[in-house]
Amino acid sequence: MKRVRLIIFNAALGPLDYSVPDDMAVEYGSVVVAPLGPRQIIGIVWEEDRLPGESVAASKLRPIFELLPIPPLRAELRRLIEWTADYYCAPLAAVARMVLSSGGAMRGPTTMTEYRLSGSEPARMTPQRAVAMDALQGEQATIRELAELASVSDGVLRGLVNQGVLEPVEVNIDRAYPKAQADYDEPQLSDDQNTVASRIVDVVEAREFVPFLLDGVTGSGKTETYFEPVAAALRGNRQVLVLLPEIALTEAFLKRFESRFGAAPIVWHSSLKSTERRRAWRAIASGEAQVVVGARSALFLPYASLGLIIVDEAHEISFKQDEGVRYNARDVAVMRARFEKIPVVLASATPALESLQMAESGVYERLELPSRFGGATLPAITTLNLTQSPPERGRWLAPELVEALQDRLTKNEQSLLFLNRRGYAPLTLCRHCGHRFECPNCTAWLVEHRFTSRLACHHCGYDAVLPDACPDCGEADSLVACGPGVERIADEVKEILPEARIAVATSDTLNTPEKAAEFVAQAEGKAIDVIVGTQLVTKGFHFPDLTLVGVVDADLGLEGGDLRAAERTYQQIAQVAGRAGRGSKPGEVLIQTRHPEASVIAALEAGDRDAFYAAETEARRGAGAPPFGRWAAIIVSSEDENEAKEAARAIGGTRPNIRDVMILGPAPAPMALLRGRYRYRLLINARRSAQVQDIIRKWLDTLDFPRGVRVSVDIDPYSFV
Ligand code: ADP
Ligand code: ZN
Repeated sequence: MKRVRLIIFNAALGPLDYSVPDDMAVEYGSVVVAPLGPRQIIGIVWEEDRLPGESVAASKLRPIFELLPIPPLRAELRRLIEWTADYYCAPLAAVARMVLSSGGAMRGPTTMTEYRLSGSEPARMTPQRAVAMDALQGEQATIRELAELASVSDGVLRGLVNQGVLEPVEVNIDRAYPKAQADYDEPQLSDDQNTVASRIVDVVEAREFVPFLLDGVTGSGKTETYFEPVAAALRGNRQVLVLLPEIALTEAFLKRFESRFGAAPIVWHSSLKSTERRRAWRAIASGEAQVVVGARSALFLPYASLGLIIVDEAHEISFKQDEGVRYNARDVAVMRARFEKIPVVLASATPALESLQMAESGVYERLELPSRFGGATLPAITTLNLTQSPPERGRWLAPELVEALQDRLTKNEQSLLFLNRRGYAPLTLCRHCGHRFECPNCTAWLVEHRFTSRLACHHCGYDAVLPDACPDCGEADSLVACGPGVERIADEVKEILPEARIAVATSDTLNTPEKAAEFVAQAEGKAIDVIVGTQLVTKGFHFPDLTLVGVVDADLGLEGGDLRAAERTYQQIAQVAGRAGRGSKPGEVLIQTRHPEASVIAALEAGDRDAFYAAETEARRGAGAPPFGRWAAIIVSSEDENEAKEAARAIGGTRPNIRDVMILGPAPAPMALLRGRYRYRLLINARRSAQVQDIIRKWLDTLDFPRGVRVSVDIDPYSFV
């Protein structure tokens, strides 16, 4: 009998050995179900010599139950799983779980029953039935999904099924996707675009690993340009993965993709329905899926034959996952391309300093698009010094910005106001006693949301009704909102320009693909005059009649003072500025600031990107920060404050003493309480070449912690809270 070693889906246990029944044909990468005690568990057959495990006598091995009907994970993907687990100090099982991210897909081909309106009326109409029938016009889905869609209980719909109002339809879950065609509608590329596109196309055809940094100004047509190598992969029957940072961006992308290739790509993100997820997963694994557009989690899917990876807006910090396996999708994308021996394109107008440095040192090949497509010019940027020309009392927009908004409205052009703060006000306090509304689970103020009249925590989702009186002193009508959020700015615009049509664009208002699509359609159709938005609207959108961008508070991002504060501010403002003047009319950008002399702001005003990056590079070099040195964090948390503190102390007390490795802490994290857990942090700073992961693994392996304590390691952290 054959024996195999499995990575099993239990992070606490290491690999385990099993025997294979004679009639079962397993190979490396096969996904199986095996017994574990009285339970059954999923496992992946792995190379024994790559997974040290205990040797168990053959007689003691238990047999595998079942081989799941999906293709075995390819060696390239197995190596990526190992690399990710190793680099980010995460359990192999936790990384492997990101690959097998659809439970349904593990089962073989199957049909399911969906329901749709049959056209007949119920014997008795109730208000709920009427609501449901209204909401379900033209829909077809499972009862569960329809109930969610219509906001009624499953019971109401089952009643309609019994009455024949909803009829069942058998559908093949894995029905084929429409085919994209490489030459459906080919654009005429500019010379610059053509040079860049041909270079990547050559590498796609040669099937080599080459990491590209596609460094092109906003509006240079990076998307059109990388669509050519996408077409080349399609012609070669190889799959393409396009990673996008936000789901709100996907809609605009899908439309462009469809007009170029004649069919929509396959979308992958966390809010897919389970049947869509299953269908996509199986199509990806079988090779039927041609192009997948997704959030970072799409990176770990089991592509049958990947030919190209694009990371669009590659500088975006949302590619960094900050829970579970704390990986950076941008960096893992490059590793995946390396294992698959294919090109990867990191596209951005404001690349991360780390990426630029890789290009400088020749590790990445740099491709440039230095000018906007079609003769459009980059917008003129002016700072408004708020200390010299402040807004009126109780307002947030300076007179020059107000005037510019009025001017655009008369000219029937669009404006965009950017403030990276959701809600109405970031802090509410009692004028009478000074009480501040804080989250009970986090070290954070509650943010007032006036649209929903609630106070919400942006970290844990806690929310409460905004009371009429202060809960502390009981004084009525004493609560005041401090500082602006986008909703408050929108109110101000309403007062200044009563006739303007205003849209607030944040993750609260554009929280589904449908709402995002509607927003894009309205903005394109010029049904919106002024957009007030967070970082969500800083990138990806192309509204040709948008000619004014106002940055409400350029200093906001600099306050946190973390490692990347200046870079992030530069990127955000340069990106949002890039939304202005993309059509035939030139754009103007007004930046409100109290610190026009700050190097970031001065570089933005002068349009001198190189100066900013040069100064930032020197600052990082001096601080031993990435890309010149390495950072890692150890975060210790528990619901019990004392337990967290003790565990952090134990870790601190056993710190290794290694030359050139500096270990700071433990100290309470800036967010000392998060989602009900008390948190302590240690920070490790080392030379670029130091084996930080090995050091951390050896160090933590010697320690044991109580059950309630969670110790997580964050390599190359982005968040310092
Ligand atoms: P970026 O992503 O670099 O900011 P986009 O890819 O959004 O720029 O391109 C800006 C605009 O120019 C888009 O509307 C795009 O369709 C258009 N465009 C770019 N290149 C071409 C081309 N070769 N032919 C036609 N339109 C193009
Ligand atoms: Zn909270």
